[in-house]
Amino acid sequence: MQSLNPVLITDSQPIANKAFLLQFNRTFIFKPGQIIGITTQKEIAPRLYSICSTPNDATVSILYTIKEDGVLTPQLSALKAGETIWITQPQGKFLFDGKPSWWIATGTGIAPFYSMFQSGQKPLKLIHGGRTQNDLYFHQEFQALTDYIKCCSQDSGNGIYAGRLTKYIDEQESLPPHINYYLCGSAEMVVDVRNLLIKKGAEYHQIITEIYF
Ligand SMILES: Cc1cc2nc3c(=O)[nH]c(=O)nc-3n(C[C@H](O)[C@H](O)[C@H](O)COP(=O)(O)OP(=O)(O)OC[C@H]3O[C@@H](n4cnc5c(N)ncnc54)[C@H](O)[C@@H]3O)c2cc1C
Repeated sequence: MQSLNPVLITDSQPIANKAFLLQFNRTFIFKPGQIIGITTQKEIAPRLYSICSTPNDATVSILYTIKEDGVLTPQLSALKAGETIWITQPQGKFLFDGKPSWWIATGTGIAPFYSMFQSGQKPLKLIHGGRTQNDLYFHQEFQALTDYIKCCSQDSGNGIYAGRLTKYIDEQESLPPHINYYLCGSAEMVVDVRNLLIKKGAEYHQIITEIYF
């Protein structure tokens, strides 16, 4: 088992329905796209979370949603600044290589892309999905991208593509050749999008995934 180290929470705020932004002092170096294990007590196995801040920030930010029937997240959401959590070392290989790419995310799966974006990395296109615009975390900041597609299954208007991101991708006449596709979110979303991209001509090696299971 990986060793756990204590860190002090510096802030913990709800940012949308059931979504929290947790911040704690940075005591390690990492690359945008990496994950970290977090727990509230050593007796509870750490859960994995993408880091959504940049390697230069003094604090580390984590975007998470509460699972009402989950073990960790209800406890995590009750903690306040000044309290202690336990973390592992950063890990993971969901790293952007700078080649022309589409980034595709739903829910908290936007977190690693926010770290990359805030670190100066940019995709050709970001396809961001959620039920409503409130579920598109950091959408105001991402508006600075030249090609930012907001897909909402239960919202419309205001620059929103009304429908799931799979529908948006399926409607594209063709995919750009020789680009990579970075996918992050639930297993269901990642599998559906990967199958769709392959059906539309992408090759398996062009698709890089991070699955939140
Ligand atoms: C690589 C990676 C990165 C991730 N990054 C993020 C992130 O940035 N943000 C984020 O919010 N989440 C992320 N996750 C998910 C996160 O690790 C946790 O799974 C999530 O926060 C739920 O934790 P929990 O302890 O509250 O729920 P858990 O107690 O782990 O339960 C999760 C769900 O599974 C169900 N469940 C639990 N045990 C069983 C069982 N035995 N049988 C059937 N169902 C069961 C629960 O009812 C609940 O709905 C990531 C996961 C991975 C793998």
